[in-house]
Amino acid sequence: MQNLIQLLPDHIANQIAAGEVIQRPASVVKEMIENAIDAGSNKIQVIIKDAGKTLIQIIDNGNGMSSGDALMCFERHATSKVRKADDLFALTTKGFRGEALASIAAIAHVTLKTKRAENEVATKIQIEGSKVVCNEACVSSEGTSFEVKNLFYNVPARRNFLKSDNVEFRHIVDEFERVALAHPDITFTLHHNEQEIYHLPSTVLRKRIVNILGKNTNDRLVPIEESTDIVKINGYVLKPEFARKTRGEQFLFVNQRFFKDSYFNHAITKAFEGLIQSKLYPGYFLYLEIDPSKIDVNVHPTKTEIKFEEDRSIYAILFSSIRQALGKYNIAPSLDFERETSFDLPMSKLKEDAIEPVIRVNPEYNPFQSFNAQKSSSNKAYSSAINAQGFGKKENSESDWQSFYQIKEEEVTADTSLFDLSSVKDISNSFAFKGKYMITACKSGFLVIDCARAHERILFDEMHARFISSPIQAQALLFPVEKEFSKDEKVHWINSKTILERLGFEGEFEDNILHLSAVPASLQEESSHPCIDMILEKISYKDVDKGDLAHLIISSVAQAYGRQKSRITDESAAQHLVETLFQSEEHAVTPQGKKIIQTLTLEELAEKF
Ligand code: ADP
Ligand code: MG
Repeated sequence: MQNLIQLLPDHIANQIAAGEVIQRPASVVKEMIENAIDAGSNKIQVIIKDAGKTLIQIIDNGNGMSSGDALMCFERHATSKVRKADDLFALTTKGFRGEALASIAAIAHVTLKTKRAENEVATKIQIEGSKVVCNEACVSSEGTSFEVKNLFYNVPARRNFLKSDNVEFRHIVDEFERVALAHPDITFTLHHNEQEIYHLPSTVLRKRIVNILGKNTNDRLVPIEESTDIVKINGYVLKPEFARKTRGEQFLFVNQRFFKDSYFNHAITKAFEGLIQSKLYPGYFLYLEIDPSKIDVNVHPTKTEIKFEEDRSIYAILFSSIRQALGKYNIAPSLDFERETSFDLPMSKLKEDAIEPVIRVNPEYNPFQSFNAQKSSSNKAYSSAINAQGFGKKENSESDWQSFYQIKEEEVTADTSLFDLSSVKDISNSFAFKGKYMITACKSGFLVIDCARAHERILFDEMHARFISSPIQAQALLFPVEKEFSKDEKVHWINSKTILERLGFEGEFEDNILHLSAVPASLQEESSHPCIDMILEKISYKDVDKGDLAHLIISSVAQAYGRQKSRITDESAAQHLVETLFQSEEHAVTPQGKKIIQTLTLEELAEKF
């Protein structure tokens, strides 16, 4: 009988191996960045399109490869890192299995450009489904660039199995953050669809953590340092009060390699016993250094599981060093490289109930003095606007009013004082126009007040006054509002979480979806989406500092509230609005600098006739 067993052709063997090593675009990113690190690079650029489904490009400035190696690197079990079996027990490199490139080349279209310092020209190799389709000399700078396109193009089952771009990109960011945290001395950048997501300059560990997790993380880190014959540990844990409901901020490294380990995680969690609630997870960034011969990295194709010869001792050392550091921290706060103090309130204060705000009124305030003297450009614009819009004609359409008000969109930077409070003859003489504007007589003419903006100013002042002394009252939503965030927006939201919670926003993330369970009491549920959009727009600028952050969030809430209250139908509400507005020192402009009040003096009116 004929023999049935045959050796698999290489390209099939490679595809099978790819199934183990390359599960999704993020696996390619991980393997390629690791190769770049092994090549001694100090700058690594990651460029992604469509969550890696269209393009993954990794550019490094490492050693590069000779033209022979450039071809060889795609062979299975081709590696420059292990020569003999013993090397496996003294690994100082990330890679050693010689599988990644062969696997990737079997299931994608790959272009490699690489150049060593000692070579005149670079080598370019294109490979598709394990077949070399181009091998030529080219011009390129020192180092290596890998472009991986159409991942899983010949493995439809894998391609169809991929999740949404948001989910796949989150996996890429996770891998990127893990290597970036393991190598703070290397500069990393990450671009997605032409947008820069991360730019991480070479730095020290603490700053790298802060650059990734946000400025306010700096205040939350407790340093851990321990040196024994078995293991050296350094890094940080997050102060117990910043423990979270999800495992997001748990990073464990050994010899600069990220790994997961439930046994060690248990030791760390145990060190926090009594300091955090049992349902919460402590945050940590811990780096173990161990003799490579005492660990086995080769237990899993993706190398995130590692066997430790002396795991029991390491467990005990981890536990005691963290426990000790937490004890020390309770007595003396940690030394920070850049301590921020604004809005740092003691925990006991945070628990107090909200108290009514005191609205500051300056009885001496007499802005009217400057009113007549001041013929600002906005006044001129306003006069010409009334001419153009035919203000004063008997029938004013609403659109006339709207375009009239567009003039006010310009930022008010000049003196914002417009009139004397005492000159408002009789507030009860106010009336609402089309539900959007209030018209009130004053000594020298009359005022038109934009109701939405008046509401915005009033709520802003109120929240601002209240927020400084105690948290803003939150209102639980009957049904949590769901909102999808980009990875970047999520990072900004999480970084601002303490202040957001203090201002009444409560919610948890499930992947990139925020389940918002409470909003500031003044907001209606339907305003929460636009309000979050406004907040994200404002906080997504890099380097918003803590003081500005509260201001930006409160101004977004006030803006959303203003829009929600843009129509006034009830006359008594209108009177109340005018009265309350005039109690504010800054009744003339919104926190965004938009005019709330327009005036028309008798003289200006006379000119119209
Ligand atoms: P491994 O990393 O396990 O050795 P890989 O398949 O990832 O296997 O890579 C194969 C070989 O290709 C590496 O051993 C290395 O010699 C070479 N190589 C891969 N990427 C780079 C790079 N960015 N710069 C220089 N050499 C590289
Ligand atoms: Mg490798």
